[in-house]
Amino acid sequence: MIQVLPDHIANQIAAGEVIQRPASAVKELLENAVDAGATVIDLIINDAGKSLVQVIDNGKGMDKQDARLCFARHATSKINAIEDLFQIRTMGFRGEALASIAAVSQVELKTKREQDATGYSIELEHSEIVREQPVAMPTGTSLAMKNLFFNIPARRNFLKSNAAEMRHIIEEFTRVALAFPGIVFTLEANNQQLFHLEAGSLKQRIVQLLGSQYAAKLVAVQEDTDYLTIRGFVGKPDTARKTRGEQYFFVNNRFIKSAYLHHAVMQAFQSLLPADHFPLYVLFIDLDPKQLDINVHPTKQEIKFEDEKIVYAFVQAAIRHALAQFSVTPTLDFDLDASIQGLSAVQQPSTDASRAATRESALFQHFTQKNKAHSIEPGGNVSATHWKPFTPASDLPIAAESLPSLPAIKNTIPALNSDISLTQLLNTYLLLPANTGFTLIHQQAAHERVLYEQFMQATQEKPVATQRTLFPTTFNVSAADARLLEEMKSLLQQVGFHLEKENDTTYVLQGVPAGFENGNNKAFLESLLEEYKHFNPEIQASLQEKLFKTLAKKRAVKAGTVLSEKEMRQLVQDLFACKHPTLTPFGQPTLLTFTKDELDRLLQR
Ligand code: ADP
Ligand code: MG
Repeated sequence: MIQVLPDHIANQIAAGEVIQRPASAVKELLENAVDAGATVIDLIINDAGKSLVQVIDNGKGMDKQDARLCFARHATSKINAIEDLFQIRTMGFRGEALASIAAVSQVELKTKREQDATGYSIELEHSEIVREQPVAMPTGTSLAMKNLFFNIPARRNFLKSNAAEMRHIIEEFTRVALAFPGIVFTLEANNQQLFHLEAGSLKQRIVQLLGSQYAAKLVAVQEDTDYLTIRGFVGKPDTARKTRGEQYFFVNNRFIKSAYLHHAVMQAFQSLLPADHFPLYVLFIDLDPKQLDINVHPTKQEIKFEDEKIVYAFVQAAIRHALAQFSVTPTLDFDLDASIQGLSAVQQPSTDASRAATRESALFQHFTQKNKAHSIEPGGNVSATHWKPFTPASDLPIAAESLPSLPAIKNTIPALNSDISLTQLLNTYLLLPANTGFTLIHQQAAHERVLYEQFMQATQEKPVATQRTLFPTTFNVSAADARLLEEMKSLLQQVGFHLEKENDTTYVLQGVPAGFENGNNKAFLESLLEEYKHFNPEIQASLQEKLFKTLAKKRAVKAGTVLSEKEMRQLVQDLFACKHPTLTPFGQPTLLTFTKDELDRLLQR
């Protein structure tokens, strides 16, 4: 026998599609507030949204009739005719969100329009109004979703830990806040303010949300065509991270996920990044809604372009262009040519003073350590097995025609046999000759890479040694940050930072990683804290990575240091034993290779 499902059950089933977790409600409610024209939006969360998700806005509000109607399925003020579906530029348009929320939680709505003297308050349970009355309030809307899935225990049990649900909430909050930098957003969780975002530019918003470490590290992307426009920012390669999570695409201001377009960005960055690293990007693509079908997925995060190949090519080209303009791509420094001409300068006999300086150098000390597998007998053979082919020119990030005619890093590195004589130029570059050309290695950049990989290898899973600080640094932090520091303490200990709590908002740094004594620990810890705020799931790996990067930079032999033949040989050998010899841990190139063909071409031979 066929039965028509009672409304509230049909609603519950449909609701499951729209409201899967607290974060889904966060998204819908924030978008409604944006659609209502709000300039200030507050998000209040209790118990990771399980007991409360509340959004308060100063938007246009609703009258009494709309306040009652908005919970009906397919109640929307945003579509009048079916053609509108193709023109939609507001965020929500299915009229499903509030009906779904009302089906799976207890709801309290308060709303008032500018022109009305009083507002109206409605409470619902099981999609039914249980209480309603006029209420005094400022213009705008407050919608509280309480006790999510109180009526569907199976779904309630299905929710993840508070930390996991909170991560989803912050992610949704971040997406909406990035899309509307002109709107003030706040986020308060369990009575603690986590974010207070002032209205400002997109760049300011990115820095507010994703961390001040990006302040000087964003490259603007901006291209306009008749078909579409793209604007936004990409992070410089040295900010790329092993964990994903800071990649945002918005199409007509709507956050979307697209593996296809992600690929386009990665292609544009190719060979600028170490393997498995992802650049930050926040990119807005705007085009005629007729060129899209947003409605392909219920939560509307996927999108179909009429012609996705065009969009792909466009995204890739726009980012290449941006990176090239800001000369983030490894380009040939033409000053270098003059220095190569001055080769004789390098042939100067070494002096006692320069030899003494060398012995003091970190590199020298590093070489003379006992039990290092890489010690080389004088005049001994260096095995050629470490030599790896370089990135072929075809993998270069920038199409040849868009670059000033530059020789590329090529697969031209020779085997290093003992009779190859290495030369140091300007006390900074190692000249490595080959049959088909030569390679210039920047000694400091190369050593940073070598040390970084050695650190990573040496301390897999072992905690880093701590050195007690002579002058403990005091940190004054906000209550919210103090809570985060408390959570981070054991991770920090792992990488050698020993932090002691003095009172609720004061911490004292008693120990730092060995070798880090003179570092700017405060700035370093602050940047770690900033990162932790985004609930990076692989925070531990990333903390260690970050520490080692900084340590490698501090300890590397500096440009301007005289190196002996033996040291040069060791450095070159170590470099090519690295997993990623061509980049420093911060993503700068370590070397440039020139072929005879390229030199001939430059000299028009
Ligand atoms: P949709 O956003 O797809 O129209 P919703 O269920 O999210 O569907 O909302 C239904 C309607 O309720 C909206 O079309 C809008 O008219 C009204 N509404 C919802 N939230 C607000 C708000 N914060 N301020 C003013 N009106 C709102
Ligand atoms: Mg909506």
